[in-house]
Amino acid sequence: MKSDLPPLIGMSFEQMVQLCHDAGAKPVHAERIVASLFRYYNSDISAIPELPNILRSYLAEHTSMFEPECTALQQAEDGTRKLLLKMPDGREVETVLIQGPGRLTQCISTQVGCAVGCTFCLTATAGLTRNLSAAEMAAQVIAGQKIGDFKVRNLVLMGMGEPLHNYDEVAKFVRIASDPKGMAFSPNRITLSTSGMVPAIYRMIEDKLPCNLAVSLNATTDEVRDRVIPINRKYPIHTLLEAVRAYIKARGNKRVLIEYVMLAGVNDTVEDAYRLCELVNGMGCTVNLLPFNAFEGSPFQSPDDAALSAFREILVAANIIAVVRSSRGNEISAACGQLKTEVAQRRKSAA
Ligand code: SAH
Ligand code: SF4
Repeated sequence: MKSDLPPLIGMSFEQMVQLCHDAGAKPVHAERIVASLFRYYNSDISAIPELPNILRSYLAEHTSMFEPECTALQQAEDGTRKLLLKMPDGREVETVLIQGPGRLTQCISTQVGCAVGCTFCLTATAGLTRNLSAAEMAAQVIAGQKIGDFKVRNLVLMGMGEPLHNYDEVAKFVRIASDPKGMAFSPNRITLSTSGMVPAIYRMIEDKLPCNLAVSLNATTDEVRDRVIPINRKYPIHTLLEAVRAYIKARGNKRVLIEYVMLAGVNDTVEDAYRLCELVNGMGCTVNLLPFNAFEGSPFQSPDDAALSAFREILVAANIIAVVRSSRGNEISAACGQLKTEVAQRRKSAA
């Protein structure tokens, strides 16, 4: 059901305390609301236990609740699960649960589509439809927690969308997720990935946003990066890495993640590997090498294993921590945007 009232799951603990106060109820009830929403995944105000009636009716009058409908679910052999979630306005986004030993990592979408237009990314092909609200991001976590066999331990903002193009709602979500009185994730277990929105990285520093930073570098020259990530024309590599170094310094040498999508014949040469070593020299980062996840109509290909390991070995020899992250759940179209596209195609051919 669509409602114009603010959703309860998009509120900070302080806002919930204020609601209790405004309703004439004790602030302690805010803790019950949080527990019901974020520990028991309750999505119905009337089902929150042990609330005074006065507060229950106040919440019903002034706030709303919603639960996205799961319109598609795929499971891969390695346990990776991908959910397509329909928001109250009918827009759909993906969230992915990646299985680890006794724990889950959940990949969260921050926008419906994306405006950045990276040429290797399927989400880019449809452009941006709209931003997601903090409540819609929180709702993805709840949907993931409900379906998973284990607790979701890590959150990565690496689904559909550019998080730093939706800074205010993403920041609100990160604060709710990391608040011990909210979803209670450790800030160290929340990672925000950006394609390189430089001014917003400085804003993250200023705001002390409680999460880790990941940057999708994906090229070692501006000439190539301009082609694959158009925003590079505005914020070229040296400007971006200056911001990353400022972030590391301001956060007390906090390690950042450098993501590097490997595109065969485009950015995977030995020269690229040496240039990458130079670029991140002394930075205190981990490099994640992501073999390109191919999709229909894409002009790129994934490098073979020999090219991948030769690239990685050059980084390792330069004392850089480099990990190859083969795309989990490959057979279930796990790269961002793929389930949504697949379902849309199926619907079209069934019509
Ligand atoms: N917009 C943000 C976060 C979402 S994309 C960003 O770009 O960082 C998450 C990661 O997936 C990024 O590192 C991006 O470079 C990578 N990615 C996108 N499409 C991919 C594909 N087809 N194959 C492999 N990685 C891809
Ligand atoms: Fe947007 Fe990230 Fe895809 Fe680029 S890679 S189009 S920034 S979601």
